Amino acid sequence: MEAGKQRSVEGTVLQKPKTEAADQILGQRFPVLDHGFIALMDYMGNDSAIVQAARVSYGECTKTLRDDTGLIRHLFRHEHTSPFEMVELKFLAKMPIYIARQWIRHRTANVNEYSGRYSVIKDSFYVPAPEDIQGQSESNKQGREGNISEENKEKIRKLMETAGKQEYDWYKQLLELGAPREMARGPLGTMFYTEWYWKNDLHNIFHFLTLRLDPHAQLEIRKYAAQMAEMVKKIVPISFQAYEDFARNSVRLSSKEIAAMSSLLRGESVEDACKNANLGLTKADGSKLKSGEGPEFLQKLAIIRGAIRDWGSPKEGTQATTI
Ligand SMILES: Cc1cc2nc3c(=O)[nH]c(=O)nc-3n(C[C@H](O)[C@H](O)[C@H](O)COP(=O)(O)OP(=O)(O)OC[C@H]3O[C@@H](n4cnc5c(N)ncnc54)[C@H](O)[C@@H]3O)c2cc1C
Repeated sequence: MEAGKQRSVEGTVLQKPKTEAADQILGQRFPVLDHGFIALMDYMGNDSAIVQAARVSYGECTKTLRDDTGLIRHLFRHEHTSPFEMVELKFLAKMPIYIARQWIRHRTANVNEYSGRYSVIKDSFYVPAPEDIQGQSESNKQGREGNISEENKEKIRKLMETAGKQEYDWYKQLLELGAPREMARGPLGTMFYTEWYWKNDLHNIFHFLTLRLDPHAQLEIRKYAAQMAEMVKKIVPISFQAYEDFARNSVRLSSKEIAAMSSLLRGESVEDACKNANLGLTKADGSKLKSGEGPEFLQKLAIIRGAIRDWGSPKEGTQATTI
């Protein structure tokens, strides 16, 4: 059988679906952080593969759906996820070990990592750029925010640089003393880079992107996710648009939040609407809550208000809704 072709059950020779946008970037290393990168190494399927898979299950019923775009958007909206699992993407990525530890939590992926038992670990560790160094965030216990003086940023970078060099020096000394690679790597910190192949299906890649593009995710993993998203967008543009519309840029309201929204639309203040809907905004001592259902509702409200502002002023003769 010719390369790139496969025989169907009926014996018809099928051409493997090709995506020009994916072929153009195959193997290209997109830099992330100081020494990291992400590259698309292989792919299976594209938007057409999703449509093809869906038409098997829907058969004649798909005729009612206008076109491929309509079908993909219908599938996404109604969480008919299995057709999206027909597309698979394989990436090669190099990232600091502490980012790899977050990334590996996405259990549906197939992973093959550089082995520090087989090979000598490279002298490559991550030192954040000055613009990425901030203080400890108060509102997001896992995050960073606020300014740090330029002088302290330089000191932080220097300390990290010194630590990386020192750890690597210990590693080399241990190897020279005859310690096995699997043991000598012990002193190397999580700032050192690792490398892996990471293969996943589109449905789970979208899930990964949702979690790792979110502002609550660590800045560094967000940078990898953003680069991955750019590639995914090129390979499956229709599905990616559906993902942006129905998942990434959508706002999901809980039943309490719907109750608060309806109060707002009746003209109540935000404070009253939240109180009536049992969405707490303050602590017992009267100080403002920084996290929880109430503050999260305010964030959603800000998105909706922003969209209303973008929409422009109400037309003459119509009434502005204040929420
Ligand atoms: C901002 C942020 C902060 C985090 N903080 C922490 C933390 O402090 N400590 C910590 O330990 N983790 C933390 N995590 C990791 C988080 O709890 C998840 O483990 C990780 O995001 C992977 O999500 P997932 O399980 O949905 O994804 P995947 O593992 O990719 O799974 C995808 C989906 O498949 C299903 N699935 C997969 N495997 C199973 C299974 N075995 N059983 C049932 N369903 C399954 C689930 O529906 C799941 O949503 C954090 C993640 C984020 C994004």
